[in-house]
Amino acid sequence: MSHETVYAIASGKGGVGKTTTTVNLGTALSEAGERVAIVDADLGMANLAGFVSLTPDSTTLHDVLAGDASIDDATYRLADNIVAVPSGTNLDEYAETSPEGLREVIEKLRSQFDYVFLDVGAGISHETVLPLGLADAVVLVSTPEPAAVHDTKKTIELTDRSGGEVAGLVLTRTRPDGDVSHDEIADRLEVPLLGAIPEDPAARDSVYAGTPLVVFEPQGPAAVAYRRLATELTGIEIPVPEGSDESDETESKATATGSASDDGREAAHDDVSSAITEAESDP
Ligand code: ADP
Ligand code: MG
Repeated sequence: MSHETVYAIASGKGGVGKTTTTVNLGTALSEAGERVAIVDADLGMANLAGFVSLTPDSTTLHDVLAGDASIDDATYRLADNIVAVPSGTNLDEYAETSPEGLREVIEKLRSQFDYVFLDVGAGISHETVLPLGLADAVVLVSTPEPAAVHDTKKTIELTDRSGGEVAGLVLTRTRPDGDVSHDEIADRLEVPLLGAIPEDPAARDSVYAGTPLVVFEPQGPAAVAYRRLATELTGIEIPVPEGSDESDETESKATATGSASDDGREAAHDDVSSAITEAESDP
């Protein structure tokens, strides 16, 4: 292959921001015109369900892995240039899935999309480890907290053992002061630091809105950091979405690392969130 296009987004500890990272990296690249698929490879949890409205009958990755559906049937358009492959919520279906089928799913998506992001479950189960070796590279997600950083070591080890490649570390929910130096954390893990995403209340708000953060509040500190991360990872420059320039503050916010204020919060997400709502049921 010419360059890396399939990334596993992984962590040792749960709740550190993997799904947020998957959704926002993917959306940022789609805004630059790249065709993107995000895949809920965390099979036991419905991570992407908030972005795709599923009925109990909807086809999901569970059906594909159980051999009952094709990947196209489990692919849902989120917005221009981006689709999601959600996993189901039904535990009975889940019991019938065979993670091995994931290899085929990934290769199919690789041939159809410019980038594929796999939202991988935390921990050390087989279904978690498998994607680490199937992806071209693994993006490690951790908060700066010692327990999370410690568990990241395990994910690095698992990646090595499954023949995978670590792209680097993304620190999430960072704070302006009080964190150990981000470079030092990456140095200790002996992996490159890809980026740091500041703590930002818009992250949670965007989940309730069912809209990716980079669309929900494009000028907020976390959204800015996610666009920067996408560029760091792929080399692709991400345009700042139009309609979000609530006059004067735009550029200065974009250069700050985590110090942006709370104003302009309700900027311009309506268009896209309604676009997503319209697209939700479009298989
Ligand atoms: P994971 O997929 O690793 O379990 P999530 O992406 O679901 O983690 O994030 C866990 C929680 O942390 C969610 O409530 C999410 O909104 C919140 N969160 C993620 N990133 C940030 C951030 N940069 N600032 C504030 N909250 C965040
Ligand atoms: Mg998740």
